[in-house]
Amino acid sequence: MKAASLVMDGWSFQRALLESGFSKWTAKCPGHLLRNSRALRAAIEAERERRLAQLIPQPIRRHKQTLSIKKPIKVQQPKWQLPERCSECRGPLEGNDRWCPNCRRIEP
Ligand SMILES: [Zn+2]
Repeated sequence: MKAASLVMDGWSFQRALLESGFSKWTAKCPGHLLRNSRALRAAIEAERERRLAQLIPQPIRRHKQTLSIKKPIKVQQPKWQLPERCSECRGPLEGNDRWCPNCRRIEP
């Protein structure tokens, strides 16, 4: 129904009814028409439902992250692979006993 569609478009009842060919008297008393016209109520309800269905949001398009933006993944090295440093000279320690070849001492 045209009137229902116009009302849902934000038109006033009076304008919508006049535009749809209703008499001025009817347009001036939309409440009376609404109470007595089951067809109009049904049409408005149908129009509302139709528009609600259209309002269902479309899935939001997400921009794909470009490779340049992507941060390199930091791989946390296992502890036994971390280079141990001497507390005296900050040099690398050797072996499983944490021996410093520079200071010739074993780290506690
Ligand atoms: Zn050292």
